[in-house]
Amino acid sequence: MTTPTDSPLDRPDAHGRGAEVWDVAVVGAGPAGATAARVAAASGARVVLLEKAALPRYKTCGGGLIGFSRDALPAGFDVPVRQRIDAISFTHDGRKERTRRDRNGDLLALVNRADFDHALAKAAVEAGAVLREGATVTGTAERGDLAVLTLADDMQVIARAVVGADGSASRISRYVGVSFGQVDLGLEAEIPVPPAVAAQWSGRLLIDWGPVPGSYGWVFPKGDTLTVGVIAARGAGNATRAYYRDFVARLGLSDYRPLSDSGHLTRCRTPDSPMARGRVLVAGDAAGLLEPWTREGISYALRSGRLAGEAAARMATAPDAKSVATASNRYREQVEELLGPEMAAGARLLAAFEKHPGFFHTSVTTLPMAWRAFAEFCKGRTTFATLLRSRAAHAALRAIS
Ligand SMILES: Cc1cc2nc3c(=O)[nH]c(=O)nc-3n(C[C@H](O)[C@H](O)[C@H](O)COP(=O)(O)OP(=O)(O)OC[C@H]3O[C@@H](n4cnc5c(N)ncnc54)[C@H](O)[C@@H]3O)c2cc1C
Repeated sequence: MTTPTDSPLDRPDAHGRGAEVWDVAVVGAGPAGATAARVAAASGARVVLLEKAALPRYKTCGGGLIGFSRDALPAGFDVPVRQRIDAISFTHDGRKERTRRDRNGDLLALVNRADFDHALAKAAVEAGAVLREGATVTGTAERGDLAVLTLADDMQVIARAVVGADGSASRISRYVGVSFGQVDLGLEAEIPVPPAVAAQWSGRLLIDWGPVPGSYGWVFPKGDTLTVGVIAARGAGNATRAYYRDFVARLGLSDYRPLSDSGHLTRCRTPDSPMARGRVLVAGDAAGLLEPWTREGISYALRSGRLAGEAAARMATAPDAKSVATASNRYREQVEELLGPEMAAGARLLAAFEKHPGFFHTSVTTLPMAWRAFAEFCKGRTTFATLLRSRAAHAALRAIS
């Protein structure tokens, strides 16, 4: 039988860190994890933020910040904007190009995710969180009233509450038992372009409604580079790769050598999926929180990260198991209230878009009301759930279904 002091749980590592008990351990320093860590630390909790990479790290992402993302950032946060967007060109499988502008500008702000995420992690550290880079979490367990994370180097991190914000390939989501419905594959490259090409894209992005059901492609300009990608349901891998190749070729970008070129899955939770188990919560992509149609996930990560940080801080001071469960249930209710209707509306839009992409293209490029609705969504002034409650949207969706 092992005595408590023989247990690896209680044995400090060479630096004396193994036996430390944190209030909150956050796994993953993306937007969800950095936000959870910042919020929990700001409320007085002792927080460790565990990130497997060294920051700044690359993340496959368009880096498009809609209004809800900008609104969810900490007060005074200096967003490292690469480009502000006031025009969107739309094509339908490369044809029928039409550009729409917003007179007041600022439809989206585009960031480089490496810079953006690094700045969010710094904000967490400024709030008091301790950042450990190169810390890959490989195991999750709970013993009594503590959660125990095992790292790749066999060290253990012990905390009263854990936030799993380790992205779409999350290990913590497996521990929690998150179930995913929609799974998509995104292919994307960062392509450096000469100044003359960059100038053509200044202040304007492109959205192409794609040939694979439910797919779309994008060009997000970031000054001297363009982020070019496509996304479609996983399972249509060959068609998605062909779409990506054709998209890059017809944009005339095939001859430029990408700085990076990668694929990444996105996943949406099922409505009944758990979001916590015991003292372990999940947030952002790890929880499958993502807008199903646009696959916008940064605002979901920031918003769920804030709620998870608050819930984890409450769990850390919870006097008993019942209070832990209360904090966990409240977290789930808050996330479902805030993001559930949005995900449901996005799923309805995706289902209609899969069948009739041409209808969406024609509406947004020729109907002022449809363009205004899209622009207002980008600016964070309305939500898809609100838009779908309108009589016009009801009629349109009924007509095409
Ligand atoms: C091709 C593509 C384009 C996209 N474009 C946009 C866009 O323009 N706008 C938008 O809003 N959303 C976009 N998204 C979605 C967006 O990227 C995600 O929703 C968002 O990054 C989720 O943030 P997160 O903090 O939950 O996870 P991530 O940003 O994935 O962060 C997870 C972090 O956890 C770390 N980690 C992972 N495993 C471990 C481990 N075991 N131990 C420790 N650390 C770990 C990772 O290194 C990473 O830093 C896009 C997604 C894809 C695939």
